[in-house]
Amino acid sequence: MENQEFEKMLEKYADVVVKVGLNLRKGQKLSIRAIIEDAPFIRKVTESAYKAGAKYVDVLWVDERLTRIRFEHADPESLTETPNWIYSRFEEHYQNGEAELAVASSDPDLLFGITPELIARERKARAQKFEPLRKYANVSNWCVVATASPAWARKVFPGISTDEAQSKLWDAIFNACRIDLLDPVQEWKNHASKLAKYKDYLSVKHYDALHYLAPGTDLTVGLPDKHLWQGAEASFKNGITCTVNIPTEEVFTLPHKDRVDGIVTATRPLNLSGTMIEDFSLTFENGRAVKVTAKKGGEDFRKLIDTDENACRLGEAALVPNSSPISQRGHLFYNTLFDENASCHLAVGNAYRDTLENGIDMTDEEFQSQGGNKSLIHTDFMIGSEHMDIDGIQRDGTREPIMRKGEWAFEV
Ligand code: ZN
Ligand code: ZN
Repeated sequence: MENQEFEKMLEKYADVVVKVGLNLRKGQKLSIRAIIEDAPFIRKVTESAYKAGAKYVDVLWVDERLTRIRFEHADPESLTETPNWIYSRFEEHYQNGEAELAVASSDPDLLFGITPELIARERKARAQKFEPLRKYANVSNWCVVATASPAWARKVFPGISTDEAQSKLWDAIFNACRIDLLDPVQEWKNHASKLAKYKDYLSVKHYDALHYLAPGTDLTVGLPDKHLWQGAEASFKNGITCTVNIPTEEVFTLPHKDRVDGIVTATRPLNLSGTMIEDFSLTFENGRAVKVTAKKGGEDFRKLIDTDENACRLGEAALVPNSSPISQRGHLFYNTLFDENASCHLAVGNAYRDTLENGIDMTDEEFQSQGGNKSLIHTDFMIGSEHMDIDGIQRDGTREPIMRKGEWAFEV
């Protein structure tokens, strides 16, 4: 792509992030968390945000190489330290109902070779530190996007120069995020209303459980009585509706934390903050993952679901047809934001409050008593394929097809 053409695409992408992803309101402040490699894109977003009337754009820059250096050289006992000002920065931002953008372009191999114990210790301490911020989750508009950072691009497209790899990854991002279409903002409106039809159909069906069947998978996922399906657009207490993930192809709800039974096999590797988990299966009993087998990274995954008492239970069940544009690209992204939109997935850990009727205003105890899971973690893993069949099971035991061979089995 010529330089000028690329700049134009970057601007279109920034506009989609500000108008669709954040739906930034005039006079709102925007808080951004990005790695330093994201800078060219963040400058475009900042420009677009001010043009849209942002009052102030505040960027928290992260050099992720420093994270690795810390793991390699810092006293292991000190890995639990997080400065208070970072916590306060987020809290002030949520209390003021500001918009928030996170950029997920990390090096998939950032923590390769680091002892799983150290990673788990740091992750848990950080999650505990920021846990009180969870109560602000539905307060104001936020969005997660990605840029083609050099390390990530090299991982997705190995064996070519970094420049070439970045250019290929940018093309993939622009394509997956509909930036290469004539009017991306309108395209996103159409896409969101299509996904809304699927989530409405499923919410009305009010299934008691989902049954997943595929090679290596025979899993029943009970759904709480008051579950809701969500997708694409989310609404926040500050009155703004926006698209929190760009790209997004999923509709999702929450599993009942105590009613998951059977075995499920992942169909794509999982990049767990810089380490890869590959060819893994989980066995569930009464909602708990009681067994993990993996060709690679099993110990890392076991550590993850050991983070707290409910980290071994499910917090999300998401449906994505195998024909999704991201899936059809046929390669892995090693990045959950993209890979989760190529495949039906589940998440271990915390459930989203807005997937339960009135869940946003419930106490933790109320949410949990209705089947919602509460945990410090939320980690998606991919289970879909062209071989997957999913049934919806009604309370009386009647079964209806939801997906056949990885595709929707109903019309909306
Ligand atoms: Zn999801
Ligand atoms: Zn998720």
